[in-house]
Amino acid sequence: MTLKTIICGGLASGILTAASLQAAEDKNFNYHVDRFADIEVLRYEVPGFNDLSLDQKKMVYYLSQAAQAGRDIIWDQNGAYNLKLRKALEKIYSNYDGDRNDPQFRAFEKYLKQVWFGNGIHHHYSNDKFIPEFSREFFRDQLQKNCQGCASGKCSDMMALLEQIVFDPDFMPKKVNQDSSVDVVKSSAVNMYDGNLTQEEVEAYYAAIKDPSDPTPISYGLNARMAKKDGKIVEEVYHLNGLYGPAIAKIIYWLDLAKGVAENDAQKEYITSLIDYYITGDLRLFDQYSIQWAEDTKSDVDFVNGFIESYNDPLGMTGSWESYVNFKNRDASARTETISSNAQWFEDHSPIDPKFRKPNVKGVSAKVINAVQLAGDAYPACAIGINLPNADWIRAQHGSKSVTLENITEAYAMASIGNGFNEEFVIDKPTAKMMDEYLYITDMLHTDLHECLGHASGQLLPGTDPDALKEHGSTLEEARADLFALYYLADPKLLELGILDNPKAYQAEYYKYMLNGLMTQLNRIEPGKDVEEAHMRNRQLIAAWALEKGKKDKVVELVSKNGKTFVKINDYAKLRDLFGQLLKEIQRIKSEGDYEAGRQLVETYGVKVDPKLHKQVLDRYAKLDIPPYRGFVNPVLVPQFNDKGEIIDIRLDYTESYPEQMLRLSRDFSTL
Ligand code: ZN
Repeated sequence: MTLKTIICGGLASGILTAASLQAAEDKNFNYHVDRFADIEVLRYEVPGFNDLSLDQKKMVYYLSQAAQAGRDIIWDQNGAYNLKLRKALEKIYSNYDGDRNDPQFRAFEKYLKQVWFGNGIHHHYSNDKFIPEFSREFFRDQLQKNCQGCASGKCSDMMALLEQIVFDPDFMPKKVNQDSSVDVVKSSAVNMYDGNLTQEEVEAYYAAIKDPSDPTPISYGLNARMAKKDGKIVEEVYHLNGLYGPAIAKIIYWLDLAKGVAENDAQKEYITSLIDYYITGDLRLFDQYSIQWAEDTKSDVDFVNGFIESYNDPLGMTGSWESYVNFKNRDASARTETISSNAQWFEDHSPIDPKFRKPNVKGVSAKVINAVQLAGDAYPACAIGINLPNADWIRAQHGSKSVTLENITEAYAMASIGNGFNEEFVIDKPTAKMMDEYLYITDMLHTDLHECLGHASGQLLPGTDPDALKEHGSTLEEARADLFALYYLADPKLLELGILDNPKAYQAEYYKYMLNGLMTQLNRIEPGKDVEEAHMRNRQLIAAWALEKGKKDKVVELVSKNGKTFVKINDYAKLRDLFGQLLKEIQRIKSEGDYEAGRQLVETYGVKVDPKLHKQVLDRYAKLDIPPYRGFVNPVLVPQFNDKGEIIDIRLDYTESYPEQMLRLSRDFSTL
């Protein structure tokens, strides 16, 4: 599970202070790369890269090649026509010889930038299809100019299809549909299910192959597309000789080179397991790799590469392909090491039913890293924290690895300075001052606690199906991790451990969390739409539940000043109690697999939007011109060779523009 919130972050130091933010500000690195629609593309810096050894740099380079090699997989997983369309759009974009300031071309360029960002025709976050602002005539004309076959009328079917993909709002309208009143398999555009499969058929299939008594179940369906052949469901498995084979072959090639410069034998072994898994598609090997990977806490260079998160599958089974390449930030890791070495204390004092506590929290290893390459579903939009592996039994028996992406959070923080948000949305000056002073620290701690402890805490009752919460599983899991973090942010233990220096610091995070969950995250939702994405549902669920349950005591209120709505928190201690109560209930729901109670919580608090408040938030945001979504271009890794053709150094280049990067990837890494 990853935390995909956009927050401010810390810097390369165990202790986070306003002074360190100032130091970063003085560096003069240009974070801003591109701006279109509701998106801003940023660039991140990679401090410490030049201090890596040559072998470590080579390892980062090979892993980055493996990361880029998988790009086409996510495009195809996101929708069956995405690759076809991307090729056509890029051809038009590159060959266009008219005026590039022409409104039609500019609208076309905006659409292509959106499609690049979404890895397909749908928005990465709202899941809605992009709406083109150029005309059908322009598109048809350009298609014809760029296709010999089309010019002679040979591929009119293809042209009609491309037009339908771009212009027909009813054709594949939603990437992932989570509306449980309809068939979520049939109504989702993702290419993880054959078009003629129903949700009922898929659920029956899984029910038949799952063995509820298996204490170490594989992650069913994680690396497969479901298809129907001769009336039967078959899994089209992603592996070297199966679906996505050509892309996987390239990934294996680069992983094999990385293995040659691995830092130690343990790392060599899990790269071998990963390669074997890619060759065979055997999910037992993926589990073996995941265990070996989770247990390696010694290597500095590290990576994720595979079918990992299942948010893009309406049933939460199939993993989207993604990759992160990174190395450890040793100084900043001191903070997370303190937290994780006290994991059992936090577990033992958690406000949940004791029978759902883990008697032995195993190996919650936590570190702070700098990213060097983001890819697949983690690119251009990425997480700021990662906690893997996802399999519950592996987490329980072997632990998990939790990382905070320091240089990414730094880039977010740096790009946000002076954007006017606090002045517009924070209720008063003292609260704004508290947030200026402490949000930077508490946001980082929230991520640490969410990833290192939150996801790793708690246990299922014996016999509980880990997928029992079905389409609400992701939302409730994120809520559980967030509540764990919120509850402990206010705990004196953090002062005792020397991580915080002010017992009221947590109030900065509480205010931001309530403000975001009740109001400001609505900026990411279009008028008339519900909240869809799991992390957003989770935040609204927590905030709206706390608002309602604290009504009697006026713990939190929505107040009106000069016609504008503000969040007012009257009693921070009681708010902490409420977070504890909700954590207790959500842990019970997860531990017992109480689908109905989970569904009611999510649907009552996490989904519906007050249209008046929504409009107000959008209007207030519009004045600020803050992009609701941000993502990144990667630095380009440029190998330096000697005259024997051997790599003698790897340099980072930060000058590539967003379109240049996208076109380079399509040129160098087209596999499917
Ligand atoms: Zn999470």
